[in-house]
Amino acid sequence: MTAYPIGTEVACDGPSTDRDCPDSAAVRAQITSATAREVRADGRRDGWRRRRRGNHLVDLCPRCDTDTKEKR
Ligand SMILES: [Zn+2]
Repeated sequence: MTAYPIGTEVACDGPSTDRDCPDSAAVRAQITSATAREVRADGRRDGWRRRRRGNHLVDLCPRCDTDTKEKR
């Protein structure tokens, strides 16, 4: 995860642990969103999801979220 002086970037963790996000997607945050929580709220509007994978949570862009569902 990359931290910027202004705001926070939430990047996609990819469809699985051994696959990176094909789009290298990151949430397009509102300029007013500075914390990870606010940025994730922006992402949810665009279809991003937060999912549990093993013992930790991952952020998935709409495309990777679909890939994950298709595999089940
Ligand atoms: Zn993705």
